[in-house]
Amino acid sequence: MEAIEKFYQGERLSFEDGVALYDADLFELGKMADAIKQKRYGKKVFFNVNRHINPTNICVDICKFCGFSANRKNPNPYAMTHDEIMDIVAQAVSRDIKEVHIVSAHNKEVGLDWYFDIFKMIKAKYPQLHIKALTAAEIEFLSRTYGMSLDEVVDKMIASGVDSMPGGGAEIFDEKVRDYICKGKVTSRQWLDIHKKWHERGRMSNATMLFGHVESRENRIDHMLRLRDLQDQTGGFNAFIPLVYQRENNYLKVDDFPTGEEILKTMAISRIMLDNIPHIKAYWVTSTINLALLACEFGADDLDGTIERELINSASGAKSANGMALDNMVSLVKNAGFVPVERDSLYNEIKVFG
Ligand code: SF4
Repeated sequence: MEAIEKFYQGERLSFEDGVALYDADLFELGKMADAIKQKRYGKKVFFNVNRHINPTNICVDICKFCGFSANRKNPNPYAMTHDEIMDIVAQAVSRDIKEVHIVSAHNKEVGLDWYFDIFKMIKAKYPQLHIKALTAAEIEFLSRTYGMSLDEVVDKMIASGVDSMPGGGAEIFDEKVRDYICKGKVTSRQWLDIHKKWHERGRMSNATMLFGHVESRENRIDHMLRLRDLQDQTGGFNAFIPLVYQRENNYLKVDDFPTGEEILKTMAISRIMLDNIPHIKAYWVTSTINLALLACEFGADDLDGTIERELINSASGAKSANGMALDNMVSLVKNAGFVPVERDSLYNEIKVFG
């Protein structure tokens, strides 16, 4: 196959090459992706000790794939107070977490300050804690709701103590698919523009891709290449995170769960196509820990973290509600034949578990 020959000659692969790779043998793709991963990181597999907090599930937007937001199928609206959030952070800090990952739904009732003051409170009390917060979708929602420019929102994040941005809200960039699955929320162009603004301020972020629903393989490659183009300009993405669609409790009718082969091919092709993004994350929450560890043979080098508590994907069927204990994470990675490495949010190594 021409795409494979180009890869071994060290050439950058095109859109057509990326699509063609899906027809290659799974183990050939694994060999190619693993060669990239081994060259960069050897047998290391990274994770961090973090706490996910999802402070509200009340949302003005309606994404068909979402099982998290409060709606007819999920009638349990909540919005945490700042005191409640600070209690969660205090407990997590006592367990030595290094990062809080704060992502919410788009709640118009709580007010702008509710979103930003919590970052200031956390930073004032725990200056050492890395705050990863506000997806590009939330930023666009705040801009739209409070009449602020995207630049103003981004500057306010920095002033409030946010250290890095999560990669959520990217879903699939193809405009037709996006219109079908999440019409009304951040557009593809806005998503990329917001991350560009963030990178231009010297900050890092991640990028996700939600796959395994109604999108085509072509849509996935297009998504990857739009990210690769931005990364060429800014170099601000740390990790690419292909998220496996969770099908329970939502309004997107998809009967077939992607096969393990399709998931692993997508992981491997991500590693091959995104030659300029340092890390590929197998987010164990959406792929299961077993498949995530297998994905580490297919180009992935990162598992995200211990999480402690997770409400967004578990609402759609993922088995992640209570995170994973550090010891368990370490022993699973070791048993799979890798070297577990605890990292910080910017991928500096904290501890190698030899
Ligand atoms: S994915 Fe986010 S924006 Fe869309 S409905 Fe769910 S919470 Fe709201």
